[in-house]
Amino acid sequence: MRVLLVEDDPIVADSLIRILRRSNYVVTHEANGRRADHLLTVQQYELVILDMGLPDMDGAEILRRLRHRDVKVPVLILTARDKVEDRVQGLDFGADDYLAKPFDLLELEARIRALLRRGQSASSATLQIGELCLDTVGHRATLNGEPLELSARELSVLEILMLRAGRVVSKELLSDQMSDLGEEMSINAIEVYVHRLRKKIEAGNVSIRTLRGLGYLMEKP
Ligand code: CA
Repeated sequence: MRVLLVEDDPIVADSLIRILRRSNYVVTHEANGRRADHLLTVQQYELVILDMGLPDMDGAEILRRLRHRDVKVPVLILTARDKVEDRVQGLDFGADDYLAKPFDLLELEARIRALLRRGQSASSATLQIGELCLDTVGHRATLNGEPLELSARELSVLEILMLRAGRVVSKELLSDQMSDLGEEMSINAIEVYVHRLRKKIEAGNVSIRTLRGLGYLMEKP
């Protein structure tokens, strides 16, 4: 479960990162508005926690652009308690919920769970390519309905490949994405994991091709 946290206050960000990691969410933190906007164009997340006041681009603008691209990821906005207009604007631009700072941690956790449940029912959490199915929330993969025995890292590699099925994924991109997910992985390690994954899914109708010098291609049947 990948969460993008956009917050420029380091103290608030640190406490949020701690809570989210404790709940086993994979957290990417970004303090700059413009860079967060870019991340949202190249990466998929299951939840975005968005501060409104940010350097370079404010939260409202990030949200407006996100919804303009028709991305339906649940967004929880963080606002100062006295800034009612921020809240109204955020909800107008398509936020799903808000939390006023300073917030209660238990309340935050409860709101996150509620949003993720809502997101799940929108089925964004399940990826399906041919006979291969990955539940990115429950961290389970199946092939033709049969459970696949995959390690956490294999699941992450599989998810990255499935999200880009039909497109070439370079080893460098895989390595970068794994480190975004908090899992440093060398190019050599990537090769090993892809090799193992390929063996585990070879009985099905989805294959991972190696394109020399380019990377990998998950082919849709
Ligand atoms: Ca701020």
